[in-house]
Amino acid sequence: SIPEEEDLPEDLEARAPIVTVMGHVDHGKTSLLDYIREENVIAGESGGITQHIGAYGVTLKNGQKITFLDTPGHEAFTAMRARGAQVTDLAIIVIAADDDVMPQTKEAISHAQAAGVPIVFAINKVDKPTANPDKVKESLANMDLLVEDWGGKIQSHDISAKTGQGVQELLEKVLLEAELLELKANPDKLANGTVVEAFLDKGRGYVATVLVQAGTMRVGDYMLAGTHSGKVKAMHDERGKAIVAAGPSTPISVLGLDGAPQAGDKFHVFEDEKEAKSIAAKRTQLQREQSVRTQRH
Ligand code: GDP
Repeated sequence: SIPEEEDLPEDLEARAPIVTVMGHVDHGKTSLLDYIREENVIAGESGGITQHIGAYGVTLKNGQKITFLDTPGHEAFTAMRARGAQVTDLAIIVIAADDDVMPQTKEAISHAQAAGVPIVFAINKVDKPTANPDKVKESLANMDLLVEDWGGKIQSHDISAKTGQGVQELLEKVLLEAELLELKANPDKLANGTVVEAFLDKGRGYVATVLVQAGTMRVGDYMLAGTHSGKVKAMHDERGKAIVAAGPSTPISVLGLDGAPQAGDKFHVFEDEKEAKSIAAKRTQLQREQSVRTQRH
């Protein structure tokens, strides 16, 4: 791995929290992510095509920002954690109020706890006549997870991802919880961060969605991601708008890599192209040797 220089406290600036949405299948993860994206990102954009790039940023009415990893389910979270990448600052765990705490809910709770990531519960589908949010909160209490309106410390909010009821309030609670984390990063250095997803596009070549976690990424930078490297030819935000620079907690899609890195791979920007290339080549070589070894065994 690439050694990272320690930042001086005075170089650190506040950054937006990075949030993952998890929960049991059909409890409303996709609906919630879609609702938030449509309300906060597309609104006001005349005819802008929203690209699905696996992550997006929203700015609330009060100007505060949240970055969402738009990969519902636990796959992204677990894949990234398995690769040693800690990307998520906070988890929203969606539980359907017409159902209960289910196996994947418990799994999501343990993932978040194991990663030391605070949880905000979104008790969803409260528009349904059969919804019983209190039953869900009771189940949580039985697991020693006391939410605020049950006298505990864990944030939760009743929402409907369908009508939008309670969603803004949920996001405000997410921001309150995030404030306690005092999230900061140094924007004034070469960028590093994590790959969210990557694929080969017929017309454009390799496209990687990355999350800048520190520093500022610029068009023309030389980057290394996993076993791949390249000069950043172009960067786009989730609206498909070309951008030239991206600071901490910004998700962007990047053109210019010579292959598709894996979700959870770290990326680093280098002063010099040769260095990025030679590390990528060394890693490729190492991978080959390892796969030869595993084939022999
Ligand atoms: P996921 O598997 O967790 O991503 O769940 P989805 O977002 O795909 O939602 C599963 C189903 O529940 C879909 O049919 C949604 O339309 C529905 N759904 C999600 N949220 C709500 C809600 O707040 N109210 C109602 N009535 N239905 C919802």
